[in-house]
Amino acid sequence: MEIAFFGLGHMGAPMAGHLITPAHTVWVYDLDATKVDDLVRQGAQRLDPDSEAWRSATVIISMLPHGSAVEQLYWDSMKIMDKVKPGSLILDCSTVSPSTSRQLHAKAQERGMVCLDAPVSGGVGGAQAATLSFLCGGSTEALQQARPILEHMGQHVLHAGPAGSGSVAKICNNMLLAIQMIGTAEALTLGVAHGLDPAVLSELMRNSSGQNWVLDRYNPWPGVMPSAPASRDYQGGFSVQLMHKDLGLAQDTAAQVQQGIPLGALALQLYALHQSGGHQHEDFSSIIKTLMVP
Ligand code: NAD
Repeated sequence: MEIAFFGLGHMGAPMAGHLITPAHTVWVYDLDATKVDDLVRQGAQRLDPDSEAWRSATVIISMLPHGSAVEQLYWDSMKIMDKVKPGSLILDCSTVSPSTSRQLHAKAQERGMVCLDAPVSGGVGGAQAATLSFLCGGSTEALQQARPILEHMGQHVLHAGPAGSGSVAKICNNMLLAIQMIGTAEALTLGVAHGLDPAVLSELMRNSSGQNWVLDRYNPWPGVMPSAPASRDYQGGFSVQLMHKDLGLAQDTAAQVQQGIPLGALALQLYALHQSGGHQHEDFSSIIKTLMVP
């Protein structure tokens, strides 16, 4: 099978790396050529968008930072949609607006291609360990076709519903995660201000009704959880910039159906404030620094 992979950032590079097997030829492309070099060293083929060579690929995967990069790649400046063979399978794993995903599905359908929006959950660690969850939107047939490919990069391939549903599910999940992070960080700052030990308070809440994924796996207080980004100066993990982007997508997605998301709106404002304080490249759990300011 020949696969073309676009976008070799924190997530895309390890994901493309898992696809390099004797059974696959993997063509790789990124705007940053140094990222391509790393994958070529692992056995991938360098993809030149203007050449004919990669057009034998029948699976196209993209892992791009935002919706405008998806538009640029598929139908704006790079127009790869016009270069891909009819019948090919398009898997967009980027976190983008459901309307961008639906546009991609429509353009794929017009050209006789099969498409899935398949954003991921699990972060850079999940991409490296091939344990990602794919939240998929599209037909059952597209999902069946994509499953064996996605299973090289992740553990769970989940069907959210028709075109765009994967993107909706991803945005709902990340909005909930941001709210959970802010709530957990706020509770910890209050307890510590009253003299409680953050590790003790975390353990108490983990065993009470406040228990949640952030307390279990991603504690924002430095030193409480050695494996969490908070314990390595908020480096690595999921950046404030990306969480801010996802909360903006939640607003747009809510506006499309006139659904109020008051806590999502507040979370967006708090992350905007935090980002403007110079924390954009830190892990999103660093929001606790902004909450600690009296
Ligand atoms: P990143 O910024 O590290 O990588 C994006 C890559 O895409 C960059 O290397 C960039 O040069 C490349 N790129 C941009 N436009 C391109 C184009 N037109 N053609 C080819 N390459 C192009 O981002 P990331 O952390 O890998 O995240 C990718 C996507 O996954 C985002 O949508 C993000 O929201 C989502 N996501 C990220 C995480 C995470 O923990 N980092 C977790 C889940 C989902």
